[in-house]
Amino acid sequence: LFLSFEGIDGSGKSTQARLLAERLTADGRSPLLTREPGGSAGAEEIRALVLQGDPDRWSPETELLLFTAARRDHLERTIRPALADQRVVICDRFADSTRMYQGRQGLRQTVDTLHDLIIGREPDLTLLIDMDPKAALARAKSRATMEERFEDFGLELQQQMRQDFLALSEEFSERIHVIDGNRQPEIVAQDVYAIVASALMD
Ligand code: C5P
Repeated sequence: LFLSFEGIDGSGKSTQARLLAERLTADGRSPLLTREPGGSAGAEEIRALVLQGDPDRWSPETELLLFTAARRDHLERTIRPALADQRVVICDRFADSTRMYQGRQGLRQTVDTLHDLIIGREPDLTLLIDMDPKAALARAKSRATMEERFEDFGLELQQQMRQDFLALSEEFSERIHVIDGNRQPEIVAQDVYAIVASALMD
């Protein structure tokens, strides 16, 4: 089973990915917890190229190609082998993040075309952690570091991103489950686990 977590910065998706991995491990499974951009040696190198240094170093198109290259390497080297071993793969961000972030600059069609050409795989299930943009922004800002790019969209754009993620969940309604992230992490994790446990029984 291939799962991804998505959401705006500060929504708690990384925490939820980790809590799910812990819970599945307690169940006696050996889930693979991984993240994007990154998740394989080559893709982590590309992550550094994209997320560190001058944010304007790459044009939107070049950046999209780098993210896609990283995803391809991650899929080949990390995700597919783990799925072949029957492991549950939990990925913190996947192609939906590229639809949102790189797709913003009028590039959505290009994102989808490249995805079909180079990636060709969606998660079986995506958990969208939906969160109040104001609270999420405060959380993301409080832990933003200098070394890594943090896209400070400001509140208005953060609200727009949230709406765009919700619209994406309607576009892929079979796959994307929206979860209310405005609650205690342990409570959110129970909802996540219920959805995943039912998918594992299918
Ligand atoms: O999820 P994480 O905190 O590692 O993301 C780091 C930054 O990279 C975020 O600020 C996000 O806005 C950006 N990002 C992006 N395009 C992606 C994935 C993440 O611009 N496809």
